Amino acid sequence: MEVKDTLSSTMKTVETREGKRMNMFVCGPTVQDRPHMGHARTYVFYDVLARYLRYKGIRLFYLMNITDIEDHIITKMQETGRSWEDITTSYSSEFFEIMRRLKNNSVNYYAFATDYIKEIIEQILKLIEKGYAYKISDGIYFRVRKFKDYGNLSKQNLDELRAGARVEVREEKEDPLDFALWKMKKEGEPSWPSPWGDGRPGWHIEDTAITESIFGPQYDIHGGAKDLIFPHHESEIAQMEAVSGKKPIVRYWIHTGHLNVDDIKMSKSLKNFVTVEDALRSYWPEAIRIMMLSMKYSAAVNFEEKAAIDAQGNAERISILYHRVSGVPEIRSDWALEMTGRIFAPLENDMNTPEVVREIISFVKDSLARNKLSEQEKGEILYVLRQIEAVFGIVHTVPLPDKSMDIILKMRNESRKKGDYDSADMIRDTLKSLGVHIEDTSEGSYLWW
Ligand SMILES: [Zn+2]
Repeated sequence: MEVKDTLSSTMKTVETREGKRMNMFVCGPTVQDRPHMGHARTYVFYDVLARYLRYKGIRLFYLMNITDIEDHIITKMQETGRSWEDITTSYSSEFFEIMRRLKNNSVNYYAFATDYIKEIIEQILKLIEKGYAYKISDGIYFRVRKFKDYGNLSKQNLDELRAGARVEVREEKEDPLDFALWKMKKEGEPSWPSPWGDGRPGWHIEDTAITESIFGPQYDIHGGAKDLIFPHHESEIAQMEAVSGKKPIVRYWIHTGHLNVDDIKMSKSLKNFVTVEDALRSYWPEAIRIMMLSMKYSAAVNFEEKAAIDAQGNAERISILYHRVSGVPEIRSDWALEMTGRIFAPLENDMNTPEVVREIISFVKDSLARNKLSEQEKGEILYVLRQIEAVFGIVHTVPLPDKSMDIILKMRNESRKKGDYDSADMIRDTLKSLGVHIEDTSEGSYLWW
């Protein structure tokens, strides 16, 4: 399997280190607001990457950090008067709930930044000792000039960056590009004790302290949205490689593109904030996953309602097929294995999920078009659908809950027979609002969820 690596700008073959598990770290959210569709895009993609690597038999550990101290959280405290605990607890709970509802279930461990203050301080002490960090009145800063590879990940010219850097009040900094490792406490801010006085960590050091303590100084895959490449990931490389003296910190850098609304990057500050919760009110989680996976992960994509509607239609088709074939034992036949192999093959080429979605939809449409499936055929289709669910998480499998639905269905069929279409439609619409769908076919009506 090959992926496009951001640092080398080349396609690289994903290989495990012999006898070792594969370690993947993805930048988690700063818990200061509700998850939006940009988050959904990023985290659905890494969820499918993790699922696929495991499907291939790779022993993968997927680690995500939760940034529970950062400038945006302080701003939120000032804007709302809410406490740090209140903001970070409520938004992290909401994030986990959204991850669960989106079926992003592959993360092994969520690490909260503030649980790693000791490790953060240890890294900063090492950086100071090695001459990579210095103290000024408002905090400890990383000395960018001393780390020769700074700029390699983002392919930027540092002199141009310096020229464009905002002239800040902190004239004490040796270089405009130097970034904070530790920020001294200001009035009303949450803080932790350190050898330099009470304060809080800078954003970039949170990640390297967490990854070093869980993975060691080097690991396999680092993911995150493209807007994190500079300065966040660039600074992670600088910190960790300076601390350990080992290169590279990461073997594969994989970045997801922005999700735009009307061609503007989705973010709260730009007021084009479509929360995942809002989207889940209108669409199945499977539909949101299909929509996100229909886009190449690395491309900047515009968010359109039409794409969500199409994805919902496809999620429903998949579910209809699932309910038609479930109830028989799955059959892992040559045909089923070949079909599964064909469906997932495009993932080997830089996680080409849009091509896989096309393969899945054509498989589903072909299967639905087949008349009278035999038990054998049902079992084979079921096997393929189970593999699709294992890797993509797009099969809506919620079982039929109880027999009372049969009575409701009978009443509706009676209404239709009598020509009372108002009642029939009323029953259909009411069920739909409860998430239950009626499919009318020549052979009768079916319910599915
Ligand atoms: Zn991060």
